[in-house]
Amino acid sequence: RAKLAGKNRYELFDGESARTIKSLFAQREEFKAALANQELQLYYQAQVNTKTGQVIGAEALLRWLHPNLGIRSPVSFLQAIEDHPLIIDLGEWVINQALAQLERWQQQGVHLKVSVNISAFHIQQDNFAERLDHLSKQYPTVKPGCLELEITETGVLDDFAQVAKVMAQCQGLGFSFALDDFGTGYASLSYLQSLPAELIKIDRSFVRDVLDDPKDLRMIKGIISLAKVFSLPVIAEGVESKAQQDKLLSLGCELAQGYFYAKALPEREFLEWLSKRQRGVASNQALP
Ligand code: C2E
Ligand code: MG
Ligand code: MG
Ligand code: MG
Repeated sequence: RAKLAGKNRYELFDGESARTIKSLFAQREEFKAALANQELQLYYQAQVNTKTGQVIGAEALLRWLHPNLGIRSPVSFLQAIEDHPLIIDLGEWVINQALAQLERWQQQGVHLKVSVNISAFHIQQDNFAERLDHLSKQYPTVKPGCLELEITETGVLDDFAQVAKVMAQCQGLGFSFALDDFGTGYASLSYLQSLPAELIKIDRSFVRDVLDDPKDLRMIKGIISLAKVFSLPVIAEGVESKAQQDKLLSLGCELAQGYFYAKALPEREFLEWLSKRQRGVASNQALP
């Protein structure tokens, strides 16, 4: 853009841009320090089969326990590192934490799959599968099938051929994939056909107004029938009420995740929630 400005070769370095560049740099430095200082933590949000009441897994969601700012949500800091090699360091940290968590839960008799969010830049790396294999070998008791990798639909479309190749390599190692934020991109039928995805996640934006907005309802119906064509299960993100859950169930979507069940919780609270819920199931209480 600076070149296009022609005569004004200093455009890139005007006050505004300089500030932006500096703050991006500062944000990355700050994030690097947070990673090194162990200020990052994974929280876990339950995924539920609403037909059987069973908890089927947990999505690991990143939190930054900032010494001054409190708990920071990932959207507030991921943007600064999204297309930067730091996102690879973060992704490997997340994978490692999730594998360690799976190992601990297994030892405690908790058998759940864990899904982690992988950024587009990271999944496009040629050695992604090799690194994943290496990381998972540090946890020999954890089966690759217990770790699910979430890639956003738009992330897949970024460089479809490359992502499809890496996904196939990971699938060969036994890992599985979910397509996150589905419906927000423009994935075509032929794309879906050649991707080794095992789960489709309906984006929260469609779930929010499913009861009132016919366009969102139509979108959800479309995603569900698309998934059916490929025999893929669908999970609805952001379910906040029983009415939404029941509507989705009536449309054929049996899996759900959202505040109606639980928000993302630290390891200990997640286990407490889980055992409370299982006691509820045992005593036949009505439960979300
Ligand atoms: P996502 O993967 O689509 O995750 C779902 C987001 O919706 C999470 O926000 C979750 O807390 C929130 N959510 C779940 N249920 C409800 C609900 O019922 N109502 C509402 N209002 N929100 C709900 P979160 O944790 O802030 O994460 C935002 C995004 O940041 C994620 O979207 C994901 O794209 C990204 N992200 C999170 N953790 C990681 C990570 O470890 N690595 C990478 N690369 N990205 C991550
Ligand atoms: Mg996700
Ligand atoms: Mg999502
Ligand atoms: Mg999202």
